[in-house]
Amino acid sequence: MTEIMASGVRGFYRGSDIIDERRIDPAYGAVDAYELMAPIIDTDKAMHWLMDLVESKGARFVTETITRDLVDLEDSLRARFDADAIVNCTGLQGEVLAGDDTVYPIRGGLIRVINDGTDFPKVDAALTITADAAGSANEIVFLVPRNDNILLIGGIAEPHEWELNLTLESPIIRRMRERCEKFLPGLKDARVDPHYPFAQGLRPFRGKNVRVERELRRTGSRIVHSYGQGGAGWSLSFGCAQDVVMLVEEALSGAPARPMAETTNDWKIPKIERRRW
Ligand SMILES: Cc1cc2nc3c(=O)[nH]c(=O)nc-3n(C[C@H](O)[C@H](O)[C@H](O)COP(=O)(O)OP(=O)(O)OC[C@H]3O[C@@H](n4cnc5c(N)ncnc54)[C@H](O)[C@@H]3O)c2cc1C
Repeated sequence: MTEIMASGVRGFYRGSDIIDERRIDPAYGAVDAYELMAPIIDTDKAMHWLMDLVESKGARFVTETITRDLVDLEDSLRARFDADAIVNCTGLQGEVLAGDDTVYPIRGGLIRVINDGTDFPKVDAALTITADAAGSANEIVFLVPRNDNILLIGGIAEPHEWELNLTLESPIIRRMRERCEKFLPGLKDARVDPHYPFAQGLRPFRGKNVRVERELRRTGSRIVHSYGQGGAGWSLSFGCAQDVVMLVEEALSGAPARPMAETTNDWKIPKIERRRW
């Protein structure tokens, strides 16, 4: 929190009065709170926007499954598509396409309820209890309102679970809902979205860290990897994309590939002035 305060982020405020103001049940045991302004990405809209953007730049979309390591396929793929470089963003399939056996999923799920103010006072700010405060790293309170009158209720983190077979009745999902109802009692009256009640997915994690790196196993390769962003792929997408561009340019210039840790960059961390709050 002190880092956030020092960052100069807009709208920072700390005070236990937030607990009351946001209608959190006093019995939940929260004793302190802070808030800040942050952008929220509506991911359904963002996917359409990204597709349109790429299309408008003249891209041709081809849907196909690649079943082998890209190192073996690089020449044939580049020749077939007349491509200067290959960018691998296949998430968990980095295992096959990049020969990386450290990738693994952390399964997550979110209940979608109607947030139009009829069943409970409309929630217009994201509310969360951090993992350490919640007492469990894998089962937290995570409430996020979307633009379209939907409130997301979460969250869970289940490492190494590959099956997307959770339902609203799964014990861990029932616990998730009960936990959030205890936190924000109004949610007891919430109706799930009949068209799309529950979303689940696999966060693509990796043993060490995110990988944004040129292919190192083949001299002169023009493959750039960007995968393993785990539960922060949207937040990290902007910075990773910038690094990918830098690495593609580096590959095209004929510079030798370097392991990620040695890659230097020219980003300067802006000097941040401490603000009063
Ligand atoms: C419940 C949940 C909550 C989350 N919350 C947040 C959040 O609050 N903030 C945040 O920043 N992130 C969040 N994330 C994480 C974020 O969604 C992921 O990090 C992100 O989607 C990963 O994107 P990606 O493109 O790297 O991988 P993916 O979305 O997995 O995309 C991989 C792509 O590669 C393609 N592909 C895979 N294998 C092959 C193959 N063999 N051949 C051809 N194509 C292939 C797939 O079709 C797909 O298009 C959340 C995830 C979950 C599940």
